Amino acid sequence: MEKGKVYLVGAGPGDPKLITVRGQEALKRADVVVYDRLAGPHLLNYARAEAERIYVGKLPDRHTMKQEAINQLLVDLALQGKTVIRLKGGDPTVFGRVGEEAELLKRNGITYEIIPGITSAIAVPAYAGIPVTHRDLASSFSVITGHESPEKLDHSIYWDKVTNATGTLVFLMGVAKIGYISEQLIKHGRTPETPVALVRWGTRAEQRTVAGTLGDIEEKVKEANLQPPAVIVVGDVVKQRETLAWVESKPLFGRRVLVTRARSQASELAARIDELGGEPYEFPVIETRLPEGEEAESAIERALVRAEEYDWVMLTSVNGVDYFFRWLERFGVDIRRFHRAKFAAVGPKTAEALAQRGIRADLLPESYRAESLLDSLADQVAEGQTALLARGNLAREILPQELKKKGVRTVEIDVYETALSVPADIWLPEMLQNGEIHIVTFTSSSTVLNLLESLRRLGVEDPQAALSRCEIACIGPVTARTAEQHGLTPTIVPDEYTIEGLVQALVGKRE
Ligand code: SAH
Repeated sequence: MEKGKVYLVGAGPGDPKLITVRGQEALKRADVVVYDRLAGPHLLNYARAEAERIYVGKLPDRHTMKQEAINQLLVDLALQGKTVIRLKGGDPTVFGRVGEEAELLKRNGITYEIIPGITSAIAVPAYAGIPVTHRDLASSFSVITGHESPEKLDHSIYWDKVTNATGTLVFLMGVAKIGYISEQLIKHGRTPETPVALVRWGTRAEQRTVAGTLGDIEEKVKEANLQPPAVIVVGDVVKQRETLAWVESKPLFGRRVLVTRARSQASELAARIDELGGEPYEFPVIETRLPEGEEAESAIERALVRAEEYDWVMLTSVNGVDYFFRWLERFGVDIRRFHRAKFAAVGPKTAEALAQRGIRADLLPESYRAESLLDSLADQVAEGQTALLARGNLAREILPQELKKKGVRTVEIDVYETALSVPADIWLPEMLQNGEIHIVTFTSSSTVLNLLESLRRLGVEDPQAALSRCEIACIGPVTARTAEQHGLTPTIVPDEYTIEGLVQALVGKRE
């Protein structure tokens, strides 16, 4: 069998967008991804759904996999002919033990690539407003490990040299040793007033900074009960933070927001959360697909070949538009055959999706619900007309009912199906329990039902209780009612029932 290849990829400091383009490309090609805690689970979303994901970090019931075992695992997988990505936090060559992994690969004749990453040593201070160099304050920096026993620290770090060798000193893995580190630096010539900052979980929602001086930092870290992982920065550049801090002032800073909509639709919401400084956490509980079965297909075909007969084509979602056109293509129906029909869209996004296909909606309601489309339609439709309603299998009944009352013949087709999706996410239950998800967003009633079901299937016995620490944000009153009926308490419901409305409500809640 041909041997596979191993990519040793830097994952960056945590924010999944801080991976390199090359790293992301490698992930997309992966058959297997081997990762641990520092290389955040988000990045796994870049890998194909079928790619195998192997976690080698700490679990409640297990220690981190031994380095030798990981090395061997990479070899074994490559020998099976697989494309293997070993994701490593930050940059793989900075305290990443990449040397050991690469060596064993080499010895086994397996090709590998090292794809650099953004090291936390630089990026994490930057996210706290601390540049590691500065024209007036520091013309050099060192990156030092703090993860050694004090005896070994003495042994492998030449404090007399390191202390004053560079303007800025950056320590990784040093939280537990902060007292010892400060002591050594003072002993070897730094003043106790030297500024120091510890930045925990930089670039993530948990980012937190504790600043002080060599003289008092140990005390402050204790007081703040700051736990690893954190980057320690020592030197005058730390003071820059007072003017340069930027991340903390974003409106959604520190908020991790669960996005439950279908992956294909989630990007707009996720992008807005990200832009506002929040951390979107995608957990798509819905997927849309073409309805299966001959019966469903032939019903759609029968409806579409009568294109010339319709006075109206009504579309109630972006998905509805997407799938409607897929079916037209499938059955070879030219859109111009709907020449008699006016097109109605339930909201601006639906209208936009139509416009992208060269169709300007004739009717666009003011608010974004089926009821509102009805109001707008009231004086436009006439008795005896025929309307084609292309929508999902879970569409609400109100629109066809009211149309019928007005004497409009309706032909309803389910152009897509909405199905439950249960993301293979071993992290979410634990994160919910730890209060690490701050807001849950629901953009439809089915996202509510499906999240509860997904959590159950992931082994959460009482999903309502699991969600009780989160703020519940619903796109509109209908979704909010569904949430309430299922034991949740929505606290964020926008006035305008759109994604942007929802985003604004999240920000408003913060202020
Ligand atoms: N290869 C990694 C470093 C691995 S050592 C890199 O280049 O970043 C692990 C240490 O990195 C942690 O103990 C901590 O000091 C630091 N670290 C990594 N990611 C971090 C983050 N998001 N926030 C704070 N510290 C981080």
